[in-house]
Amino acid sequence: MTNLRTLYHPAMYDPAPVPSYWEATAPGDDPGWAPLEGDAECDVAVIGGGYTGLSTALHLARDHGVDVAVLEAGDRIGWGASGRNGGFCCMPATKLSVAQMTKRYGPEETRRFFASQIEGIEFTRALIADNDIDCDPRGDGIFEVAHRPRAVGELKEYGETLGRLFGIETTLYGAEEFRGIGHDSAEQFGALKVSPSFALHPLKFARGLARTASAAGARLHPGSLVTRWLREGGRHLLTTARGALRAKRVVVAANGYLRERLHRDFDARILPVISNIVTTRPLTSGELAAQSWKTDCPLVNTRRLLFYYRMLPDNRLMLGARGDLTGAPADGERMRAWMAKRVAEVFPAWRDVEIDHFWRGFVCISRRLAPSVGRLEDDSSVFYGFGYHANGVNTAPWTGRKIAAMAAGKESPEALPAVIRGLPARFPLPALRLKYLAAAYRWYAFKDD
Ligand SMILES: Cc1cc2nc3c(=O)[nH]c(=O)nc-3n(C[C@H](O)[C@H](O)[C@H](O)COP(=O)(O)OP(=O)(O)OC[C@H]3O[C@@H](n4cnc5c(N)ncnc54)[C@H](O)[C@@H]3O)c2cc1C
Repeated sequence: MTNLRTLYHPAMYDPAPVPSYWEATAPGDDPGWAPLEGDAECDVAVIGGGYTGLSTALHLARDHGVDVAVLEAGDRIGWGASGRNGGFCCMPATKLSVAQMTKRYGPEETRRFFASQIEGIEFTRALIADNDIDCDPRGDGIFEVAHRPRAVGELKEYGETLGRLFGIETTLYGAEEFRGIGHDSAEQFGALKVSPSFALHPLKFARGLARTASAAGARLHPGSLVTRWLREGGRHLLTTARGALRAKRVVVAANGYLRERLHRDFDARILPVISNIVTTRPLTSGELAAQSWKTDCPLVNTRRLLFYYRMLPDNRLMLGARGDLTGAPADGERMRAWMAKRVAEVFPAWRDVEIDHFWRGFVCISRRLAPSVGRLEDDSSVFYGFGYHANGVNTAPWTGRKIAAMAAGKESPEALPAVIRGLPARFPLPALRLKYLAAAYRWYAFKDD
């Protein structure tokens, strides 16, 4: 029995691997990674085996010589969002506009945040190259596609802001020009290319990161949900179904899968949001030509309830969208049908193409609308990183390295950019979080029309 609480249907927390395109095309876990059994000890225990936890473990073990163990609830390492996302390595990990961020934190801290985001993209790229992680990196930028004519002006202004304030390279294309290098669609009125971005195979990246961490000495335990966390003298005691881990320090890297009542300091700080993905069967060269498809780059559109999409290496269209407030399997089926309909509406030439995979998972948002990284004020042996606002492929590995440096006593939390430093405010009336989300979805749908 556990006292832990979650916001969604239990199906969303089933530890079995999700039947995604990524699972179907990635090599399996290392057989040496097994659930925690019996009593064990380590210097640093990491809760969560996604990019944040794995990067923390890798850098603690390899750069700081720390004895570290990762406890992952899913039956496989990378079971959470890290193994099932769209694979867009892009920025920024925030829902604040540049103007809102500047108003709240000032121009210098806003600049530091954007610099850390670009650094995150280059850091993920370097992790892949330096550790020979085979994860199919593709594309040399991300396209933000105008879904209606008046969005072109917004993209133009956004591109100019990125260039002027942060030196980020962007190029604006009209609809005709973009048809020649990107694609055609019923919702394509031009696009902005933002250069420091690419796409990868997220699960291959997660498992590659895990193998690198394991080779550096980190112990990895899938199938090890932490159900209880106690303070025992100067140490932490983390209990799982079959084991107990004692640690001097703990890192919380659970992101949108964080259970409440595990540690009171983290309760009511996050709102997990379901993101859904479909893939089509492989498209023929004739079908690709029918929508003028030419690009390997990942793409998002300008809807607030955005679509993110890309062509996979075997010519399957992958399309992702938010929606569904329950996580119940029947609502998942409805999401799948709605997304198939949207593929047909946006790409009419592909209206009869079968959908062959559908899966979903949690992205993590918080009231500050930007990531949260740091060390607890009331317990300096607990560290955390979460809330990447659906943009963790660049941000989570970077955060893991920062947490490792903090947990090793080499960097101070005070040195983090103010935009991401410290815990976010708790949600008022946290039991109503999904109601707030429902209201936000209604408002966004209204603004998108
Ligand atoms: C469908 C989808 C599409 C996305 N697309 C993109 C994209 O294209 N680009 C992008 O940048 N981001 C994307 N994201 C977000 C991105 O995947 C996340 O930001 C990132 O993976 C977060 O990494 P993490 O390690 O912090 O969290 P996760 O990968 O979610 O890992 C957290 C882990 O903690 C474990 N855990 C939780 N509680 C416990 C406990 N008590 N005991 C043990 N383990 C526990 C969970 O099982 C989970 O595996 C997407 C997310 C989803 C779901």
